[in-house]
Amino acid sequence: MLELRSITAGYDRRTPAVQNASLTLAPGEAVGLLGPSGCGKSTLAKVAALLHRPDAGTLTLDGTPVRHWRHRAPRALRTAFGVVFQQPRLSADPRLTLADLIAEPLRATGRRAEAPDRVAELASTVGLTPDLLTRRPHEVSDGQLQRACLARALVLRPRWLICDEMTAMLDASTTAALVAVVEAYRTETGAALLAVGHDRTLLDRWCDRTVHWDTVAAPGAPTAKASQQNF
Ligand code: ADP
Ligand code: ADP
Repeated sequence: MLELRSITAGYDRRTPAVQNASLTLAPGEAVGLLGPSGCGKSTLAKVAALLHRPDAGTLTLDGTPVRHWRHRAPRALRTAFGVVFQQPRLSADPRLTLADLIAEPLRATGRRAEAPDRVAELASTVGLTPDLLTRRPHEVSDGQLQRACLARALVLRPRWLICDEMTAMLDASTTAALVAVVEAYRTETGAALLAVGHDRTLLDRWCDRTVHWDTVAAPGAPTAKASQQNF
């Protein structure tokens, strides 16, 4: 179980991007998070993916509070999460190919030896031809790059998938293809999904339940002292 309770988070403490937000994701469950642009969904998604330290609230994973944050939570916990954003933030090294990008999490966790097999397998799963794998991000389409980002998110076989506006820049057929890849992965592995978006039709079709931001975050309510956690 992934539980976020009364989370406040942001980029400067005086104007939190997220205030008093609570969200629970059960193992295997698919939850859609809907809300207008700028309300704080991406920030909360990064907190949920252990990529952004909250300023207040509690975050527990299978009943254990997540501790020892720097900017992010410890890598050993983060490897259980696969994250896809609307727009990939690419590696500083422009020489990296799509195959390198997909393999990055394996390299980062000392599992480089698995890369050739895993990259080939995932490329086929997400619909990237061997030729595309040798290209650099600026040499492929948005859709092809997003396929690679989804492959990268799946490479460590995460139990928790966070898709933040994954398909917002994509056409209908690429959207359908990537949603199908996520669904096949979840069927195979039982992974849970948090899908952030603004398209209710897509989220309702894709997820077990869709929650609106207004029910997730309650800016007016004070954060309960009892739920304060020292991050
Ligand atoms: P959403 O995903 O719902 O569009 P965000 O979480 O991206 O919302 O943004 C919430 C607020 O935080 C916005 O006011 C946005 O401008 C601000 N914000 C988002 N990312 C950053 C950042 N890296 N630095 C400073 N402010 C940010
Ligand atoms: P923060 O303000 O918390 O630093 P960032 O936007 O830097 O928020 O995101 C935190 C982490 O999330 C980054 O260090 C990176 O690992 C990951 N991240 C954020 N946006 C992207 C993106 N578009 N593509 C890939 N990784 C991203």
